[in-house]
Amino acid sequence: MSLIRDNLQAVLQRIDAAVAAAGREPGSVRLLAVSKTWPAESVAEAYAAGQSAFGENQEQEAARKIAALGHLPIEWHFIGPIQSNKTRPIAERFAWAHAIDREKVARRLSDQRPESLGPLMVCVQVNISGEASKSGVAPDEALDLARRVAELPRLRLRGLMAVPAPSDDFTEQRMQFRKLKTLYDSIRSAGVPLDTLSMGMSDDLEAAVMEGSTLVRVGTAIFGRRPAQPTPG
Ligand SMILES: *Cc1c(COP(=O)(O)O)cnc(C)c1O
Repeated sequence: MSLIRDNLQAVLQRIDAAVAAAGREPGSVRLLAVSKTWPAESVAEAYAAGQSAFGENQEQEAARKIAALGHLPIEWHFIGPIQSNKTRPIAERFAWAHAIDREKVARRLSDQRPESLGPLMVCVQVNISGEASKSGVAPDEALDLARRVAELPRLRLRGLMAVPAPSDDFTEQRMQFRKLKTLYDSIRSAGVPLDTLSMGMSDDLEAAVMEGSTLVRVGTAIFGRRPAQPTPG
């Protein structure tokens, strides 16, 4: 009786169904399990059910879990925005960083990536819905940043990531994801090799897969609803 195991199976079935509906190659979409706010025990439970890639967005919280689960070959992804004074622990502990939106942060991650590890896999985050509150580069700045990041020796640019404004309308969800896919295609056409479109979460993964996502980041549908964040002060 494991709720996490059942939820994980259900999410994998949703992905498979969407991949089939889109006429895409089976296995062409990876699942990243977003374990932010959940304890190391929950990560271990999902790992035992076959999930090996996990996403976190708070560096200190992640460091505790990574230390507690050091005996498991987990692939850790940092999916939150990165402040330039927090790059070192991310460069040292993570396999991927999904939310690169400034050259300065990318440069520091590259400088600080230990030689003993392979390159840090990175995505450029794009603010596709244009909301002032959202992080990410503007779409018309993405090619320039992608070119600069691609030159950094200890990073490997893999693709683009976005978190569109939430919508419960499937057509609207698809339109937002299509913007990122169009940008992805144009950056590839400009000669920057990319293979990852990091888009789609618990409530919109079908729309993302229809529009070409290669990696969905799913938290709630696997681990349950996150407790409300404490309000500061
Ligand atoms: C929390 C988070 C997710 C997961 O969202 P759910 O709706 O819980 O699936 C995905 N991506 C990012 C960047 C997140 O911060």
